Amino acid sequence: MEKGAELYAGKAKSVYLSDDPGRLFLVFRDDTSAFDGEKVAQLARKGMVNNRFNAFIMQKLEEAGIPTHFERLISDNESLVKRLQMITVECVVRNITAGSICRRLGVEEGIDLDPPTFEFFLKNDALHDPMVNEYHIRAFGWATDQEVERMKELTFAVNGVLKDLFAKAGLLLVDYKLEFGRHGGEIVLGDEFTPDGCRLWDAETRKKLDKDRFRQGLGGVVEAYEEVAARLGIDLGTAAT
Ligand code: 5GP
Repeated sequence: MEKGAELYAGKAKSVYLSDDPGRLFLVFRDDTSAFDGEKVAQLARKGMVNNRFNAFIMQKLEEAGIPTHFERLISDNESLVKRLQMITVECVVRNITAGSICRRLGVEEGIDLDPPTFEFFLKNDALHDPMVNEYHIRAFGWATDQEVERMKELTFAVNGVLKDLFAKAGLLLVDYKLEFGRHGGEIVLGDEFTPDGCRLWDAETRKKLDKDRFRQGLGGVVEAYEEVAARLGIDLGTAAT
């Protein structure tokens, strides 16, 4: 499979065409950003770690019956994925309060949410990813009602699988963001699942082991991602070519 022209460069990943029109290369870069691109840095090994982390999680989700775009690892920082028609909303589930919900609702960090909450955000950096609801999604035609229901169902299904997986590694899955796309009439999980897009705390100490280390200037960002990977038994060795 040959890598073709660059299709899109995000803040931490780039997307390239392949010689198969139905497949794309995802390239995980060492770049990291926060606050809609206002804070940026290069963190050595992050691309490799996130590529491996994402592959591991996507495979676990597939095994649990959740359709994902992931096909296979290509190299240390590249993966092959199915080409989706992306839906421009982000789906966020929270098991514990942290981040924007604390700012928006004036609640403390660390409150257990049982049942968990679900929120939609519009993917738009210029507007700082505003929260939207199902009426906005319907009115602006971003997704059909059926697609909205399926995204919610799959996002909660991911919670069931990953909360357990992380709990076995002594980690709390605080919250996470998913993005979906359309593929052959089906809603399929796209984008990535890495510590860049979720919050993970040590279950005992509640030490932050995710991108909040970068957002909050706590240091040891990639080291924390590597610790999570090690606890999950993810092999961070050289990827197959
Ligand atoms: P919050 O709404 O608290 O900022 O984010 C909730 C969860 O979704 C966090 O785990 C956060 O990392 C993730 N998230 C929300 N928006 C984005 C985004 O634009 N990019 C990434 N990588 N993660 C996001």
